[in-house]
Amino acid sequence: MTMLKRSLRGRSRLLTAALAVLVLAGLAARPAAAEELAKNLFGAQKLPAVAAPQSIGFYSKGCFAGGVAIPLNGPKWEVMRPSRNRRWGHPTMIALIEKLSRDAAADGWPGLLVGDISQPRGGPMLTGHASHQIGLDADIWLTPMPDRKLSLEQRENMSATLLVDEKTHLVKDALWAPAHTRLLKRAASYAEVERILINPGIKKKLCDTVKGDRGWLRKVRPFWGHDYHFHIRIGCQPGSPKCKAQENTAPGDGCDQSLAWWFTEEPWRPNKNPDRPKARDLMTMASLPAACQAVLDGPDPASAEAVTYYGDYYGNGVPVAAAPVLTKAPSPARASASGAAALPATANAYAETPEIGIPLPRPRPGG
Ligand SMILES: [Zn+2]
Repeated sequence: MTMLKRSLRGRSRLLTAALAVLVLAGLAARPAAAEELAKNLFGAQKLPAVAAPQSIGFYSKGCFAGGVAIPLNGPKWEVMRPSRNRRWGHPTMIALIEKLSRDAAADGWPGLLVGDISQPRGGPMLTGHASHQIGLDADIWLTPMPDRKLSLEQRENMSATLLVDEKTHLVKDALWAPAHTRLLKRAASYAEVERILINPGIKKKLCDTVKGDRGWLRKVRPFWGHDYHFHIRIGCQPGSPKCKAQENTAPGDGCDQSLAWWFTEEPWRPNKNPDRPKARDLMTMASLPAACQAVLDGPDPASAEAVTYYGDYYGNGVPVAAAPVLTKAPSPARASASGAAALPATANAYAETPEIGIPLPRPRPGG
């Protein structure tokens, strides 16, 4: 009996100990649960945060408030892959795409196929781009808009044309046209545009063929991918004190040894650590600027339509709405309330978009 009691008591002690372990494990797990990946939180957003437009953080680590959508169809553009819900950006970015569509049409480009811009509140994405996080990046296809309206299904499934040979990294000449050069030159011509990221093969094509004014080539930067679309990046906009500017591009047209590096074997070496997690698989809210929590918590507009930017929608450059229609008063105070803190110590743990001025071996970005 005593033995049994003792053994029962022993067992209950064991149970108590086991429970204590479980409770401790639970406590330990709780902070981990709070550290949900930022890509899941931002990737779940359907609508922007109603606030004064503001980009927060860096192109590859940040978010934005007061975003607006480009309409799915414009007179001279169509949004591709609409199910991704990445047609959101800073109003200046959206207005610039609309302007480019009109200017490019005047240059002879029938219209823009608009690729990914940003998620409604920016932030890291579940798939794809490392940048595009602060509403200041946009991808535009190098395929002109067809003369018939694409159905939603076609926009989801239409495959893109790769303009660059994957082995030689050179442009496929049969697919290249002077209209491509005109489109890229037009995009680079805007003061807001700081960079155009493009496949090194296309940059080389421009280096080899552009005559006369070559100053705009300085903005055209070689980068992996970008062989069926080009990437427009505009600078930090007024009203975004927490937006982190990128370095200036190096002077000159960039048709030098920094471009030649792309035609060595080095940039194309297989990733030595293919299993190494990507930045988006590590970034939690603690990795992002503190103000991004306020962006995540910010109020929804009444609908996507209420914050769709129709500036150039009716063509002729007549701005129909100079600013997005907001259904609630902007609350910039709220966005800045928690944003005073400096970047967390982990801020440098993730590589920013590589600068190409001085070629250095860099990990090849996935996705
Ligand atoms: Zn891009």
